[in-house]
Amino acid sequence: MSQPGIPASGGASTGLQAQNGAASASGSPYTNGPVQNALLSSQVSVSQGYNSQLTGSYPHLIPAKTLNPVSGQSNSGSSQTVSPLSNYQRHGQALYGPPVASHPVTPSLHSGPSPQMPLPTSQNPAATPMPSGSFLPGASVPSPSNWQYNYLSQTNHCPRASSQPTMTGNTNLMSPQYVSSGDTSLQNNIIKSGIISNTNNGSMAVHNSYDEIEGGGFLATSQPTHKNPTMSRSVGYSYPSLPPGYQNTTPPSTTGTGIPPSSLNYASGPQAFTQTPLGANHLTASMSGLSLHPEGLRVINLLQERNMLPSTPLQPPVPNLHEDIQKLNCNPELFRCTLTSIPQTQALLNKAKLPLGLLLHPFKDLVQLPVVTSSTIVRCRSCRTYINPFVSFLDQRRWKCNLCYRINDVPEEFMYNPLTRVYGEPHRRPEVQNATIEFMAPSEYMLRPPQPPVYLFVFDVSHNAVETGYLNSVCQSLLDNLDLLPGNTRTKIGFITFDSTIHFYSLQEGLSQPQMLIVSDIEDVFIPMPENLLVNLNESKELVQDLLKTLPQMFTKTLETQSALGPALQAAFKLMSPTGGRMSVFQTQLPTLGVGALKPREEPNQRSSAKEIHLTPSTDFYKKLALDCSGQQVAVDLFLLSGQYSDLASLGCISRYSAGSVYYYPSYHHQHNPVQVQKLQKELQRYLTRKIGFEAVMRIRCTKGLSIHTFHGNFFVRSTDLLSLPNVNPDAGYAVQMSVEESLTDTQLVSFQSALLYTSSKGERRIRVHTLCLPVVSTLNEVFLGADVQAISGLLANMAVDRSVTASLSDARDALVNAVIDSLSAYRSSALSNQQPGLMVPFSLRLFPLFVLALLKQKSFQTGTNARLDERIFAMCQVKNQPLVYLMLTTHPNLYRVDNLSDEGAVSINDRTIPQPPILQLSVEKLSRDGAFLMDAGSVLMLWVGRNCGQNFLSQVLGVENYTLIPQTMTDLPELDTPESARTIAFISWLREQRPFYPILYVIRDESPMKANFLQNMVEDRTESALSYYEFLLHIQQQVNK
Ligand SMILES: [Zn+2]
Repeated sequence: MSQPGIPASGGASTGLQAQNGAASASGSPYTNGPVQNALLSSQVSVSQGYNSQLTGSYPHLIPAKTLNPVSGQSNSGSSQTVSPLSNYQRHGQALYGPPVASHPVTPSLHSGPSPQMPLPTSQNPAATPMPSGSFLPGASVPSPSNWQYNYLSQTNHCPRASSQPTMTGNTNLMSPQYVSSGDTSLQNNIIKSGIISNTNNGSMAVHNSYDEIEGGGFLATSQPTHKNPTMSRSVGYSYPSLPPGYQNTTPPSTTGTGIPPSSLNYASGPQAFTQTPLGANHLTASMSGLSLHPEGLRVINLLQERNMLPSTPLQPPVPNLHEDIQKLNCNPELFRCTLTSIPQTQALLNKAKLPLGLLLHPFKDLVQLPVVTSSTIVRCRSCRTYINPFVSFLDQRRWKCNLCYRINDVPEEFMYNPLTRVYGEPHRRPEVQNATIEFMAPSEYMLRPPQPPVYLFVFDVSHNAVETGYLNSVCQSLLDNLDLLPGNTRTKIGFITFDSTIHFYSLQEGLSQPQMLIVSDIEDVFIPMPENLLVNLNESKELVQDLLKTLPQMFTKTLETQSALGPALQAAFKLMSPTGGRMSVFQTQLPTLGVGALKPREEPNQRSSAKEIHLTPSTDFYKKLALDCSGQQVAVDLFLLSGQYSDLASLGCISRYSAGSVYYYPSYHHQHNPVQVQKLQKELQRYLTRKIGFEAVMRIRCTKGLSIHTFHGNFFVRSTDLLSLPNVNPDAGYAVQMSVEESLTDTQLVSFQSALLYTSSKGERRIRVHTLCLPVVSTLNEVFLGADVQAISGLLANMAVDRSVTASLSDARDALVNAVIDSLSAYRSSALSNQQPGLMVPFSLRLFPLFVLALLKQKSFQTGTNARLDERIFAMCQVKNQPLVYLMLTTHPNLYRVDNLSDEGAVSINDRTIPQPPILQLSVEKLSRDGAFLMDAGSVLMLWVGRNCGQNFLSQVLGVENYTLIPQTMTDLPELDTPESARTIAFISWLREQRPFYPILYVIRDESPMKANFLQNMVEDRTESALSYYEFLLHIQQQVNK
């Protein structure tokens, strides 16, 4: 039974084990640490952009002997050997001196091209290369793919960063390219900009910037105006500045945590101490909570109970915590974990074969967000955790950190609760009552005055661009939204256009009209009169409006077909460097001139193959430039509007590493493709007016014993775990992978905290903090019961994108399948007491095979289709950058029957009644010719109308007399004065309103060309190249029962 397109899966040997388990066998805590070493190693291949440094990370690609054992690069950050640095939280003294000399990563300078050490062969079945893509159930081929949690480009295995003076993480990503490029000027560049601050002998080089800022302070080398040298000396490098309230207290004990400075007296306050205790006594109660959800304890035979899809949107599992704790917990839409019950040890995690990681949507638009303006931001003196609902108060004057367990003082100011205006109840402060909170940051959190909002637009005006007519839409959108751009009186704006030359526009206040300046030397771009090119929006608004009105007409006669995108980006970068800001680039073709020029490399006849496709960048130009941008607080958003192959794999790097976003409008044309025009307009409106944070950094902390290693999303990893985000937007999602470094047997709760420090468009420095608390469990059954199948699928998708790029698409597909086989095998053999025939799964994972099958059929990973390469790459970008909720919708769309919508079960929002039809399985079995069905696939809505659809729906909703009169291309529903029309439109509008992008609606008849797309999303059905859900289950069962 050979099924093309189904992953070869050699069996249950694999995956999660390798990543989690094998690493400890290799004995070294540092996986990908070699960042800076990589910087010096000369063999690293540079050819493929962001993944290049990863090429070596596949054990089976690396002869073991080429690695120096000293480097100790294991394949996982999960080693049980604790590195010296990982102990920093326990050993206070580590905080006081740069432990650089003993930096364990240094030896790996000698390692070869690979930053990682191969697994022992016995544990690495992947060592044998095998033909990929073949489907040989039953054949005893070696398992082709192990997940390695650290194979990622943005891997960071150094256990914790904030305490680590050597800035390893940053180099992690990129250094190989710098190295092999041999471009010393570039290295200098980077060093100058402060990104790379460590030299190998352990001395501290340049520390600029925001690396330590989120830590709350500044370094002696940073801006002197902001700091007191004595102070920073006494607090030490990794013990950043203290809030004012702390500054006169005794320095923290160097002998460890838990010992408060003896000089402090704890005056008892007037209020009785009533904090809800978090801890053992409550845990006992919470454990018994398991029995409260009998459904969750069910074991399901998927071969018998095939329809496990709930008819309402799947809710994330609720962590098994005492309700007093859970009610304070972070909203899962913002912050969730793949396992809501954290395994006590890495060994237990290895047994479960499930990935451990976090999915974040940290800057999501929130209706309610408590903002604290207090001058004192209370943080742990040891690990810099922000005080949060899950700390414990020993008494009114002392609180114990829930991440490192240090006992801290409650500063005097914190004794007063501004909400109740009562003194002596620190535990009732908003900081301790809200898992999501925002602080106004005092000046210690700034290295320079907050930057003004700066918006630079870079437009392709070549012949091809003019043909699409996009400039009209964009300029009109800008005109419409000019006053809504987030900002203040300091907002600056500028424009660059380019074809074979670069055009600047002087918008100096007082000019009667904008002045165009053409720079034709694209080899060495200079900026003519830079002071007049980025201008104050308020002062030059009329000139800006003038320009936007004339721009679309200026190039209508152009015959210039060349595109000097690279030089234009360089010019834009130079222009923005002094301030930072947001660069919005509109491109309509493959760049052909100057630096960054690209060649077509898509081979259409290979589109359907899982092999030999170009998922990696063909040049590192865009990545390098993105890193320069990141260093200067510039983010680049790319709008690609192209009907032709434009090598998004290469171009996308400019956004990926500068924390920008990518938008893609294939075949955009103002006349031929009106729905794309509509989509662009809607999305531009959101883009231009949504909240924006500038010069941001994000750090994720977790309870001692856990270790964060690999990061997914658009950013640059600076100083091991600090994500550099020149811009942050409310529509971006992130994921991280974790391991259990040290046993958690002594703790019952663990916490995760993300802190996002940014400059608002009003020029305020703010910190948004989310804290998530989860229970620790000791049995495999509990781990399985708490599994969050959506989060797991989302994390696996992120990992699979990386695997596709570093290895191959078929390898990634295999790994996805093996993830299911491995976890269900583990469940069967270790957690299931009663062995029965069938495919037995815990209730929590009942949708796991379905979601993985859906991923295999998702545009990113599908085979056997004629998807354009750029579309696939874009889908992969989306996987990495979208919040989980949208990723799931793209992967497993929601299907509703809509020809019989009723108000039964409807919800009422702002006086509108929104019908809530049940969600149907994605199978043609669920369709009927006498109905109409709406598929919500995230970025697209498809309304399939059956040939015998009731007359009522046709006339009352579609406004046509009969089926044959439905227009061939229908992308809008008429607003008819009928209840049916109102319901349908209300439902569709409601779906659209819930997402930041604009899904196009297609009404589909049987003859419609879109019908194939509709059917392609029928995940449960068999296609030419992919198994049906039932066949997939049989395959999984066969492997699990082996
Ligand atoms: Zn702490």
